[in-house]
Amino acid sequence: MVTPPLPPGLHDWWEAPRVRALNERVGKPDGRYVLCWLQQALRARDNPVIDASIRLGNALGLPVLVYHGVREDYPYASDRLHRFILGASRDLGTECRDRGLACVQHVDRAGHREKGLVHRLGAEAAAIVLEDQPTFVARWQAGRVAIRTAVPVYAVDAACLVPPAVLGDGIGGRSAFLRRHEPERDGWMKTQDVVPQLPVYTGPLPFVRDALDACDLDGLVAGLAIDHTLPVSAMHPAGRGAAADRLRRLTTQVLPGYASTRNDATRPDGASGLSPYLHFGVLGPREVMAAVAAADAGSQHKRKFADELLGWREWFHFQARALAAPERYDRIPAWALQTLSAHAGDPRPELETLEALLHGETRDETWNACQRQFLADGWMHNNLRMYWGKRLLAMTPSPEAAWATACYLNDRLSLDGRDPSTYGNIAAMFASSPSDRERPIYGRVATRGDGSTRRRAGGDAWLSAAASRPVPQVSTPVEVPVDPYLTGEPTI
Ligand SMILES: Cc1cc2nc3c(=O)[nH]c(=O)nc-3n(C[C@H](O)[C@H](O)[C@H](O)COP(=O)(O)OP(=O)(O)OC[C@H]3O[C@@H](n4cnc5c(N)ncnc54)[C@H](O)[C@@H]3O)c2cc1C
Repeated sequence: MVTPPLPPGLHDWWEAPRVRALNERVGKPDGRYVLCWLQQALRARDNPVIDASIRLGNALGLPVLVYHGVREDYPYASDRLHRFILGASRDLGTECRDRGLACVQHVDRAGHREKGLVHRLGAEAAAIVLEDQPTFVARWQAGRVAIRTAVPVYAVDAACLVPPAVLGDGIGGRSAFLRRHEPERDGWMKTQDVVPQLPVYTGPLPFVRDALDACDLDGLVAGLAIDHTLPVSAMHPAGRGAAADRLRRLTTQVLPGYASTRNDATRPDGASGLSPYLHFGVLGPREVMAAVAAADAGSQHKRKFADELLGWREWFHFQARALAAPERYDRIPAWALQTLSAHAGDPRPELETLEALLHGETRDETWNACQRQFLADGWMHNNLRMYWGKRLLAMTPSPEAAWATACYLNDRLSLDGRDPSTYGNIAAMFASSPSDRERPIYGRVATRGDGSTRRRAGGDAWLSAAASRPVPQVSTPVEVPVDPYLTGEPTI
C-alpha cells in the first residue's frame, strides 16, 4: 500500500479502511477544489466517495466538486444502459445541490467532445477522490488517472457495507468470510453523512457542463452513437424515485414472505428487483439494510435478505478484489478447469447459434424463458440464472466459449451486469460442488434441471408463456466479442 501523502490533520480520514491512495503525489496547495469523480456510485447521500471528498475538503479548506461523465465508447453502451445511467446522474446532480455540493456532468457526443476532461478538472484540484471498483470501466480508469495526474488520487469503496479491506487476508471460502464479515456489520450501519463546511463551488470550469435536469434525456440518448437496438427496461425505470419505489415494495410486499418466495421465479413479488439500482449505486447497501431493519417482517426473512445482500454480494466483491482479472475463465478452481477441459472434446448435440441464444430462440424452452427476461427486462430471476448459466456449457462449443458467452449476454443485456456478482456467480455455476459422477461435457461439475420452476403449480404454463413473450430484435455480432478487459488495457 502507498504511504499517504496527506497533511497530518487528515490522518483519521486516511485510516478509514475504505480509502486507498493510488499514487504518491503531494497535494496541490493552490487547488480550487477536491474533485470527487463518480463513475458508478450514482447517489448523493450515503455515499462514502462523496463523504471522503467532503472530509478532505473540510480539512483543506476547499469545496468539493462532484463530476460524473458518460462516453459513447464503453463496452455494451446501449439505450438501456445509457438511459439508466443518465436518469441516475440527473437525480445525483439535483440531490448534490440539495446537499450543498456542486455537481457537474458531461455526456460525450459528436459536437460535444471533451478530450481528457477528468485530467483537465484534476489539474485544478488539490486531490482527486474516485471509486474503488474491482470490475469494468471504473477500475481501469482509476488506475490510469492515478498514473497520469499530478495530484494525489484516493480510491474509496462505495459498493459494500463493510469495506473489504477491514476483513484482511487469508480468507479461503465464504464461511470464513462470513465469520469476519458478520461482526462488522452493525458498526458500519452507524456511519453518518459528512456535512460540507465550505460554500458551494461556483468558480471556473474547463468545459460547458450539461444541464441534465433541463434536458430531454430520451432525445439525448436517441442522438448518441450507441447500440439503439437494445431498448430501455420498463421493469427498471431510471432514477432515485424508481429505486425508492422498489425499496418500498421490498419492505411492504416482498420481505414479509421473502425466505419462502425468493426462489419462486413464477412470482412477480418474490424477490426485490434491486440489483440494477445497487449495481449503479443509486441505492447503497446501508440505506437498503436500514429500510429492511425497520420493516414489519419476520426475522427469518430479514436474515435471508441480509445473507443475499451482504453475505453473497459482498463476498463476490471481496473475491473480485483479490483477483487480477475477475472476468477471466481461469478464475474458476483448478478441479473444475481440469474436469471441464477433460470433457472439452465431448460431442455437443445441443449446440446453438449466437443468434438463437441472444434472442432466446433455442430448442430449450426453459432456457428461452430465462434469456427473454434478460432481453426484455434487463434483469433475470436468480433461480433462472442458475439454470441459464449451467446450460450454456452444453449449448456452446467449449467451456471457454460458454464462459465468454455467459459474460457477454449478462454484461450486454442485464442492467446489473459487469459486476463482481456477474463473474462470481458465473464462476460458481461452472464450479459448483464437485460431484462423484462423471457426466459428458460437465465432467464432475454438477448439472441443474428446471424442476424448481416446472414443479410449481402452474410452472409449465408460466415457462411456456415466458419463453414466447415478445422481445426486441437486437444486433447480433458474428461471434461473441472478446472482452476488452481481458486483452490488455482498454482504450476507454
Ligand atoms: C449465472 C448468474 C449470473 C448472475 N449475474 C449477476 C449480475 O450480473 N449482477 C448481480 O447483481 N447479480 C447477479 N447474480 C446474482 C443474483 O441472481 C442477482 O443478484 C439477483 O437475481 C438480483 O435480483 P434481486 O435484486 O431481485 O435479488 P434478491 O433476491 O431480492 O436479493 C437482494 C440483493 O442481494 C444480492 N444478491 C442476491 N443474490 C445474489 C447472488 N447470488 N450473488 C450476489 N448477490 C446476490 C443482490 O444485490 C440483490 O439485489 C447472478 C447469478 C447467477 C446464478
